[in-house]
Amino acid sequence: MVQGREGYRFKNWATTFGSYPELYFEPTSVEEIREILDLARQRSKKVKVIGGGHSPSDIACTDGYMIQLNKMNRILKIDKEKRQVTFEAGLLLTQLNEELFRHGLALTNLGAVSDVTAAGIIGTGTHNTGIQHGILGTQVVALTFMTASGEIMECADTVNKELFQAARLHLGSLGVILTVTLQCETAFRLHEQIFPSTLKEVLDNLDSHLKKSEYFRFLWFPHTENASVIYQDRTDKPISDTSNWFWDYAVGYYLLEFLLWISTFLPRLVPCIHRFFFWLLYSSKMERVNCSHKIFNYECRFKQYVQDWAIPIGKMREAILELKAWLEENPKVVAHFPVEVRFARSDDILLSPCYQKDSCYMNIIMYRPYGKDVPRERYWLAYEDIMRKYEGRPHWAKAHACTNRDFQKMYPSFQKFCSIREELDPTGMFLNTYLEKVFY
Ligand SMILES: Cc1cc2nc3c(=O)[nH]c(=O)nc-3n(C[C@H](O)[C@H](O)[C@H](O)COP(=O)(O)OP(=O)(O)OC[C@H]3O[C@@H](n4cnc5c(N)ncnc54)[C@H](O)[C@@H]3O)c2cc1C
Repeated sequence: MVQGREGYRFKNWATTFGSYPELYFEPTSVEEIREILDLARQRSKKVKVIGGGHSPSDIACTDGYMIQLNKMNRILKIDKEKRQVTFEAGLLLTQLNEELFRHGLALTNLGAVSDVTAAGIIGTGTHNTGIQHGILGTQVVALTFMTASGEIMECADTVNKELFQAARLHLGSLGVILTVTLQCETAFRLHEQIFPSTLKEVLDNLDSHLKKSEYFRFLWFPHTENASVIYQDRTDKPISDTSNWFWDYAVGYYLLEFLLWISTFLPRLVPCIHRFFFWLLYSSKMERVNCSHKIFNYECRFKQYVQDWAIPIGKMREAILELKAWLEENPKVVAHFPVEVRFARSDDILLSPCYQKDSCYMNIIMYRPYGKDVPRERYWLAYEDIMRKYEGRPHWAKAHACTNRDFQKMYPSFQKFCSIREELDPTGMFLNTYLEKVFY
């Protein structure tokens, strides 16, 4: 009989949310997972599975039973001909990337970090950038999961198609994901070029930037005109990647954190800090070449609050200019850099923020220097109002104030997802506070 642990405290990566599950389980087999769900059913307990615990919101929190699949992390099959990999859902992408690399394979796209699980990233609609590429869930070929009743279900493009459309962005609400099959490609290197620009130049030449670089994104430094353009493209050039502790850590982290902390007492310093750091770190061209996962991933050093809504790509210009104008009209409001703008192709995943729309994600952040909260309410509200006005849909893992009524309007197939969920989990075993707001 699988044993649950009492007294476990769960905290997300940013330490912005946490919970005290009644029992915490680390099962080692599918049979043990079934035992846990049987027990939960008998005792009317809620269940939440966590992956890497990286979601900045409370989506992974529970005071019921928490399941961590870190002991179920084996690679089950690598099909070299189809370039597909099947693995247990507890595998971290850091391990997967290395294993694929050894077999001459790689994922086509990755988010900023890999200390996360595939089940977790498709739980929340994690994305990177590249207008030819969908959110990461579009790389899923097949899934198996255990429903609340203990039944194991499989879905793929050709098997349970409707379920597949739902399960590739599941919110942890359909069951326990057991295995994931991902489409890969032959391993490749990326050439990253980062160069300085202005917001006006990027917006005026957006189509050209999108055409020039497969994985184009840009950073805008609020309270200034400055922008940093990032191109990442396939290359045969040899690896050349020289990181520099002084610039990356001493300046880019320790000095910045200290200055941001000072600015919590003197908020009018923030625009100067942005200009200073742009000049110091982003005002000349930088280049490097490395294997794809080492370029896609970067070290996120700061604990922070984030919002990241997707809006139709054609609305991006108006939306970002409106945010800029609002900040200029409200000089007392502080917005930390960067506003990161990324792109994703439309898809048919029922709850994907890119559902049927080529989209642009505008990610805003507020750092917490030395753990200190910086007031963000007015900035957050203004951003959210603008995103709503431009038909935005929030990232499921990050902050937002949306409720069931909003989601009904935002997602044409919301009801379809709800019907699938209610059929698979009629008693709401996999719900938590976050999901109650989404579904009721
Ligand atoms: C430093 C950092 C960088 C980030 N970069 C990006 C980025 O570039 N792009 C982006 O879009 N997002 C980004 N995020 C957000 C992150 O990708 C998502 O929050 C992602 O869901 C985290 O995966 P995880 O494995 O930690 O999942 P968790 O946070 O543990 O869980 C997420 C959801 O999946 C569910 N879940 C997990 N495993 C299972 C399972 N086996 N069965 C059923 N349900 C399950 C959980 O219940 C929960 O609902 C970042 C977050 C951080 C902290």
